[in-house]
Formats: sequence, structure tokens, C-alpha cells
Amino acid sequence: MNIILFGPPGAGKGTQGDYLVKDFNLFKISTGDLLRKEIDNKTSLGNEIKSIIERGSLVSDNITNRLIENVLSDKKYYNRLIFDGYPRTINQTQKLDEMIIKYDQKISCVLSLKVDQEIVTKRILGRQICSKCGLIFNKFFNPPKVVENKCEHDLTTRSDDNVDIIKKRFKTYHQETLPILSYYQKQNLLHEIDGMKEIGIIYKEIGGIIKGLDTWLYIIYLYNEQ
Ligand code: AMP
Repeated sequence: MNIILFGPPGAGKGTQGDYLVKDFNLFKISTGDLLRKEIDNKTSLGNEIKSIIERGSLVSDNITNRLIENVLSDKKYYNRLIFDGYPRTINQTQKLDEMIIKYDQKISCVLSLKVDQEIVTKRILGRQICSKCGLIFNKFFNPPKVVENKCEHDLTTRSDDNVDIIKKRFKTYHQETLPILSYYQKQNLLHEIDGMKEIGIIYKEIGGIIKGLDTWLYIIYLYNEQ
């Protein structure tokens, strides 16, 4: 069972994905994180894509599809992936379907987080990421709490989280990514979720959907809850 988290920038895909990973023993794959890692490591791919990401455009389908195939083909993640930020174009959607067949896997649901652009802009501007553990926080809505013996959170922000680039990313989302939704709706995979609610309430709804998909996942959830 693989899950797609869908929504515009700042919808909370990363945060909800982190919760799902913990409760259901799944793996989150964020193309944004993979691409930023290439930039941080100053690889040749990183140098190629840095300016594309910084101006809020999409990286080429070839590059993102290749990154996804590297993970999808790895048996360690077999049928246990949460896609965050992929697919983002029709081409990526078709390519993902091909890869799912090639590696004998399944997409069980697409969770679409619906949000208001103005409010989400504030969310994005408050986003903070721990450079040590990768957890995502928000200085307005979800400030970090340091738990004893755990990471002390060295917080950073993203270079594309500024007002002008956010506008561009929303435009790109509406033009290139939103049309994908009808593709998944036709396959009865789509669940629409009000992403404006409080993080815990959204997660309750999402968790309920996932538990209902697969008895085995429900058992894992009960086990992790103890
Ligand atoms: P995100 O972390 O998902 O907000 O992505 C940050 C940036 O990485 C995006 O604005 C794009 O430039 C790039 N990116 C992430 N995922 C994809 C994708 N699936 N296709 C193309 N570009 C992507």
C-alpha cells in the first residue's frame, strides 16, 4: 500500500506525512527534500536545479521521475511509501503508474489537503525545519517542543519560503499540479480533506482513512499506540 499526499505548498503534507510514518511504520518520500539534499551536498544535479527551485518553478519530470524510481525500486520500501510532493505533473502521474506496475505495487489512496491560499502563505512564512532531525515546525501554529533526551532542534528556513516565490509556487500548482486530481478521482482513489483545521484534527481524519484501508496497518497503529 502506497499513499499520495496531495495539496498546494504549505498545505501540511510534510507534517501529516511525518505523523503517518510514525504511527503506521511507513516511509515518507518528499521530492522537495531529495532535491534540497542535492543542493546542500553541492552535487552536479544540485547545481543544475538550485536556481529552478529558488524561482519557484518545477524541476524537470525526467529528474524527479528518476529520483522516485530509485526509491520505488528498493525492496526496503516495498508498498510502504508516502509520496509528498510527487506526482506534480501529468507526465509524473503517468510515469508513477508505469513504475507502480513495473515494481508490482499499489497506490491505495490520494489524500488531498484543501487550504486557503492567504492563510497558508502565513503558514509557509512561519515554517521552520530542524536541520538535525528534519521535523517540520511552525513558529505561529506549531512551535517546536524539546523533549528530554531527544533532538534539541537547530531550526532553519527554506530559501523559497518568501512572499514572491510563494505566489509563483501557487501559480505553478494551479497550472500544472491541480489538473492531476481529476485523474485520481476517476480511479476512486481521492479523499478530500479540510486542511484548514487544527493539525491534530486533520490527522485524526487522515489516520481514520488509512486504518480503514488495510487491517494490517490498523494492527500496526494499535501496536504503536501502546
Ligand atoms: P516542496 O518541498 O514539495 O515544496 O518542493 C520544493 C520545490 O522543489 C518545488 O517548488 C519544485 O521546484 C521542486 N519540486 C519538488 N517536487 C517536485 C516534483 N515532483 N516535480 C518538480 N519539481 C519538484
